Amino acid sequence: MSKKWVYRFDEVKQAEEYVGGEWENVRGLLGGKGANLSEMVLIGVPVPPGFTVSTEACNAYLASGETFPEGLREQILEALRNVEESTGRKFGDKKNPLLISCRSGGKFSMPGMMDTVLDIGLNDETVKGLLEMTGDERFVYDSYRRLVQMFGSVVMRAPDEAFEEVLTAARLKAGVETDAELTADDWKNVTVKFKAIFRRYANRDFPTDPYDQLNLATEAVFKSWNGKRAVDYRNATGIPHDLGTAVSIQTMVFGNMGNDSATSIALTHNGTTGENRIEGDYLTNAQGEDVVAGIRLTNEISKLKAEMPAAYKEFEQYAQELEKHYRDMQDVEFTIEKGKFWMLQTRDGKRTAQAAVRIAVEMVEEGLISREEAVLRVSPEQVDVFLHPQFDQNAIKAAKTAGDMLAKGINVSPGAAFGVIALEADLAQKWANEEGKNVIMVRPETKPDDVHGMLASKGILTSRGGRTSHAALVARQFGKPAIVGVSELEIDLIKREISVKGRVFKEGEWISIDGTEGEFYAGKLETIVPDIKDPYLMTLLSWADEFRRLGVWANADYPVDAKRALEYGAEGIGLCRTEHMFFETERLPLVQKMILTDIPSERREALDELLPFQRDDFIGLYRVMDGKSVIIRLIDPPLNEFLPNQVNLMRELTELKFLLRDAGTLDEMNELLDKIEEKRHILRRVESLHESNPMLGLRGVRLAIHIPELTAMQVRAIIEAACIVAKEGVEAHPEIMIPLTIHVNELKSQRDILDVEAEKVMKEHGIEVPYKLGTMIELPRAALVADQIAEYAEFFSFGTNDLTQTVFGISRDDAEASFLIKYMAQGILTENPFAVLDRDGVGELMRIGVQKGRSVRPDLECGICGEHAGNPESIHICHELNLSYVSSAPFQIPIARLAAAHAALRDKNK
Ligand code: ADP
Ligand code: MG
Ligand code: MG
Repeated sequence: MSKKWVYRFDEVKQAEEYVGGEWENVRGLLGGKGANLSEMVLIGVPVPPGFTVSTEACNAYLASGETFPEGLREQILEALRNVEESTGRKFGDKKNPLLISCRSGGKFSMPGMMDTVLDIGLNDETVKGLLEMTGDERFVYDSYRRLVQMFGSVVMRAPDEAFEEVLTAARLKAGVETDAELTADDWKNVTVKFKAIFRRYANRDFPTDPYDQLNLATEAVFKSWNGKRAVDYRNATGIPHDLGTAVSIQTMVFGNMGNDSATSIALTHNGTTGENRIEGDYLTNAQGEDVVAGIRLTNEISKLKAEMPAAYKEFEQYAQELEKHYRDMQDVEFTIEKGKFWMLQTRDGKRTAQAAVRIAVEMVEEGLISREEAVLRVSPEQVDVFLHPQFDQNAIKAAKTAGDMLAKGINVSPGAAFGVIALEADLAQKWANEEGKNVIMVRPETKPDDVHGMLASKGILTSRGGRTSHAALVARQFGKPAIVGVSELEIDLIKREISVKGRVFKEGEWISIDGTEGEFYAGKLETIVPDIKDPYLMTLLSWADEFRRLGVWANADYPVDAKRALEYGAEGIGLCRTEHMFFETERLPLVQKMILTDIPSERREALDELLPFQRDDFIGLYRVMDGKSVIIRLIDPPLNEFLPNQVNLMRELTELKFLLRDAGTLDEMNELLDKIEEKRHILRRVESLHESNPMLGLRGVRLAIHIPELTAMQVRAIIEAACIVAKEGVEAHPEIMIPLTIHVNELKSQRDILDVEAEKVMKEHGIEVPYKLGTMIELPRAALVADQIAEYAEFFSFGTNDLTQTVFGISRDDAEASFLIKYMAQGILTENPFAVLDRDGVGELMRIGVQKGRSVRPDLECGICGEHAGNPESIHICHELNLSYVSSAPFQIPIARLAAAHAALRDKNK
């Protein structure tokens, strides 16, 4: 017996058995569309009878050089007999003809990428039968011409324009504006002309035998799996190429049988806001494709309620049933034929990030899904959307209706942007930086020489390239919205214009790109920033908190940042960088004075003046974080960063010398000489502090050892501030963090100063405050000797930026500006290690660090404060390493909370 290739819609159980029970595999076998049609039959939703030819048949057909596998033809015929029985009609019958559709559908939805043929079974004979059945001549000849047209364009690849020309001529001749106004006779004439077009392009007559039609259409659907559109789409979306498409063959139902017939596409929830309200469009007296094609103005689904109350009620009930059954919002297609309701398709509906969050939360409240499922249904990337500008959904809708959606490409970097077209990097940079214009850089593709233009632009659009093209990598790297691989886009670099679908845009004209969807538009679309304090998001995140094991802390230098972090759910401050506080205008001169002097008393004086500033900063932080840990890092960067630039100093010195030459009086000369002397002094100091590799030079704890008074001042500020707020009843938990430790002896030497100073301060204030001393682990050696270090450190914080630089032996700035992009394009590295934690190298060192550290101090608090702490994949690694917390930028806290919950849930469900 040959293999079972064909499953009737009522044979879903058999399909399930064959694939071993998993619904995912049923979808693999019958395609998403076919599997759901069967499932709907099972749960009692009215579906026109039919059957599905499996993806296995498609794959066998394609693998054998396009021949039907053994038994397929017979099984199709047998299933067709069955459909004839249940409908009481006969395929190819002159009196009572059965008409069918041949629908494509793979495991994953590939909207519009493959083919579907409707009205199969019509020919010059059966047309009469249909006429007898319906008595509607216009409808019948309209259906017939549709079949010839679809067969021509889908099966035989005749160009659409050929058919459109005939239609336009027919409308002109009849003196009407729309196809709907054409009469039966018009359609008869059109059909004759369509057949001629068919003959011209297919080199054969239109197949009149319904069985020929069925075979050819089935083959066409099989072949459409390897059509260029479909292959490109799969490349872009990462759908495997070996899945194949199923073919669902189904009894035609007609929404165009008069005013008690209609067709519609609807969502069971609002896809934009997530509101629990049916949303959709319908057309009375029309067929399915008419709604999608947008050739007629559709009605809001709510109007259907008034127009066909009984059918609408049925629809509402089935919509609810489907939503309950699939436990998710559904996107459905249905048709009403003479008052009778038929469901033609259901699938999980696409939705915006805001809708995804609201639907997940409300479905928990309705008891449809668990909190855990809701949390897993929203991705950290969707939460990220709440942070970036998006196009207003109404603006998108309006643009689409106006035909201003120009094309769809590969969505490689999310976010929305509008700007004027610039076709060269230099021009993009000039317009953006010198003229303050919003620029979208448009290129066939980009190369490293273009990066300056890309950086200056708001968004990037290319006609070529894929997910790993230069443009895609750079755009993601720098968070610029981008679309690549828009094959319909033509760029004329000589005429300085672009064209798409026959529309031309000159360089300098406005366009808008939606990097989230990969769509781009003519003109300037309105943007909005979704509300991060959206109540549904807040609820979802509070559930995420129930599941996660990782703490989520924030990097914050100022009380305002801390406040924001707290609002977003931060449980502590994982990194307060004290040097940022040094750069403020009032303070910088004091810092410079401290650095420039060699005289201890002068240095002490400068430090004494700095002390109150630092103390006040910390007081503010403690007050905000009342009761929560605040990790304060002692000074980290090389001193040169605080001093004027060497080149500028030399220029100023030269200018002073010129002034001296022209000086008129002795007083003036003396004054200038003093200034020259001072500048020279600074210059000498800058020169003496110059390092070839400042990143690897005198910085971090090395600097603190070099200037011990600085450590003492910072510790005094930290502890004094804690004593002061303690008296107000605020609970301060300072954790003093030493950066860039290499050797345990560095810690020992710092601890001595630290503990002594802290004791002294507490005595002065007559109050004890708790404090901890710990270190950053950001050098490979420190991770390797973490057990020795843990003897002196009460906590670790992994600084994964420096750790990545030193583990890889590359400087981030240099690498990102040059070879990293190439490495990713060539697949040498799959990710930028500064964006996504390198599990095998850096991650392994972290594992050693945690393990060795906790071998000495079992309850050692280990966190991460590098940029990786805001990246979902890296957070997953941190969870696996059993870190105590991740500390991210305040705005990334919501992402981190969700990502940490996902990590914990995946771990649990493993
Ligand atoms: P797509 O995957 O592109 O949506 P479909 O297979 O769903 O393709 O079919 C395209 C259009 O034809 C849809 O509007 C659908 O509702 C309609 N259609 C498909 N099969 C039938 C049928 N048996 N009766 C009536 N309309 C149909
Ligand atoms: Mg469909
Ligand atoms: Mg560092």
